[in-house]
Amino acid sequence: MATVFIDGSTGEGGGQILRTSLALSCITGRDLHIENIRAARRNPGLAKQHLSCVKAACEICSGRAKGATRGSMVLDFEPGRVESGNFDFDIGSAGSATLVIQTVLPALFLAGEASTVTVTGGTHNPMAPPFDFLCETFLPAIGAGGFRGSCKLLKHGFYPAGGGKITFEIRPTEKRSQEIFNLCEASKKFQIKSRIYTAKLAEHIAQRQEKLLEQSSLDIQDIEHIEVTDSDGPGNCAMIWISNNERTTVFTAFGMRGKPSQEVISEVVSLAGDFLASGAAIDHFLADQLLIYMALSKTGCYTTNKLSTHLLTNVEIIKKFLDVDFSIEEDGSVCRVSYQPV
Ligand code: ATP
Repeated sequence: MATVFIDGSTGEGGGQILRTSLALSCITGRDLHIENIRAARRNPGLAKQHLSCVKAACEICSGRAKGATRGSMVLDFEPGRVESGNFDFDIGSAGSATLVIQTVLPALFLAGEASTVTVTGGTHNPMAPPFDFLCETFLPAIGAGGFRGSCKLLKHGFYPAGGGKITFEIRPTEKRSQEIFNLCEASKKFQIKSRIYTAKLAEHIAQRQEKLLEQSSLDIQDIEHIEVTDSDGPGNCAMIWISNNERTTVFTAFGMRGKPSQEVISEVVSLAGDFLASGAAIDHFLADQLLIYMALSKTGCYTTNKLSTHLLTNVEIIKKFLDVDFSIEEDGSVCRVSYQPV
């Protein structure tokens, strides 16, 4: 089978191009040559999190990688046969544990037997799915398409200290699941809740954020504060849950030194508010993460509130490996994305 050539500077030009390529190389058995890795990022090339993704991909299929060094912008990956098993990966930094898990999940779902993947690293990182999103938004959404598993947080890890731990149990999936992703209708009835995490920070930070959430334009029914005691370093994030009978969407904004609480809360309120106002069924983060599962199950559609460059780029990368396409239509305030056979 011909090697797949990927230009890592395509569209978004970030780490997701690498992760999707590794996942699909494992699944299709096709060799991968990728250049210009993370060319659009301030610190291009492979960082620790991405190296862990390469290592994880090698481990699940006894694959081989050339160019897997810090800062490398070129990688050759030769996959072997994917085998289920119990895997333990340590990123060795606060790199996102959820993104390492997401790299190996699609192939392990299709590997025939159950697997467990445990990753040590960041569990709550800016610019990546936090554990709560993985567990409460992503997992039920892929479950709707027949990809089932469960996840557990063993230890919190905030950026920059990291050191958190997540474990993910993967149940094997039928190659042609009868279940269909249909995430198009948004329910009019929903509940809004909020959660503030603080670790090793002064008490007044959570109090201030709680007050700001109470005063926000959203009708938040419940605000919970979790004082994290098991993390290696300090951390703060504010989350908003929008739930209805069918699904839960978790939005997150991260606090950091020098970023006022006002900014953290307006960021998360505006993410949730834009989503609610749009009438879309799923948020734009889940939208880019679901594409690979729709492509694998050859079915499905969803509506989302924003066409992100992550989404558009992921479509292009998936099409390099699989004979699939997606139709993307803008319909008022929502974008409808549907699987299209080629
Ligand atoms: P870099 O861009 O520096 O290479 P990266 O490897 O983290 O970093 P990206 O290509 O930016 O990769 O992909 C980030 C992924 O994280 C996307 O799938 C995006 O949907 C997801 N994501 C980012 N922020 C959130 C969030 N708040 N909630 C859920 N998912 C998120």
